[in-house]
Amino acid sequence: MADPRRRYLEQLVALGDKELVLPVRTGASDGAPPRGSGELAGRTARTAPGCAAGPPLRAPLPDPPARVSEAVSPPPRIPAGLAVEARRPSTDLFVVDPVARLDTLEAVASAVEACRKCGLGQTRHNSVPGEGDPHAGFVCVGEAPGATEDETGRPFVGRAGKLLEGILKAIGFGRTDVFICNVLKCRPPDNRDPEPLEVTGCSPYLHRQLELIRPRVILALGRPAAHELLGTNASLGDLRGKLHRYRGIPLVVTYHPAALLRNPNWKRPTWDDVRLARRIYDGQAV
Ligand code: URA
Repeated sequence: MADPRRRYLEQLVALGDKELVLPVRTGASDGAPPRGSGELAGRTARTAPGCAAGPPLRAPLPDPPARVSEAVSPPPRIPAGLAVEARRPSTDLFVVDPVARLDTLEAVASAVEACRKCGLGQTRHNSVPGEGDPHAGFVCVGEAPGATEDETGRPFVGRAGKLLEGILKAIGFGRTDVFICNVLKCRPPDNRDPEPLEVTGCSPYLHRQLELIRPRVILALGRPAAHELLGTNASLGDLRGKLHRYRGIPLVVTYHPAALLRNPNWKRPTWDDVRLARRIYDGQAV
């Protein structure tokens, strides 16, 4: 039978290799390849002059260099366009998020008040954790507090809030029957859109609130809420009017009340959406 080492060297020559790659010997006798001897990982050892010319192999393979690391010099060149940015995670992935251990909505609110994960904690006047019935079957999730909410520490109390109250009333809910909150718990300056890192830092509070309340239905008001809760980038047009699920809980997406103030034509589809949410709440449409 042909010597497998010879065949290996012949293959290298056939493939045009100019370098002889020597796997590191570990002394293992189970036939398993030594660690790091994968197709590319083993390309560390040494050049065997003349190997490319394919001289007959008689002598046993020489021992690998005593300290392989010395032979590993230039890092492999990655062709432009293939480079992947390896980013260090911003938190220790093995530490349980302390927000997940907060066991009441009040505890979540206190944590929000103390939070300085992003710059919004410095620019806001009041945190706006959310409010309503802690056992609500119906939860509304908006985007972020605006100016009036920032002044008062209460969600949806400005113009958009008044409209939301009207929408809720139309489906038989008073403000105190439901729980109302936002993805962001602090106002972004000038009501600018939430930044991805602000959402990443703040969303654990929202997820914990929903976990503690365990509502029968969630109404996501606008794109940021829908995207955060459903983990999608789909358009609002694609998301509204359907039954979704957030961790098993039925979820309906509709237009944000502030968008309705700008575009009253959206009131009709919003009415359809909230009636669907109400039917689900009543157990008629799941
Ligand atoms: N818009 C929101 O998304 N949330 C509020 O609390 C107020 C306005």
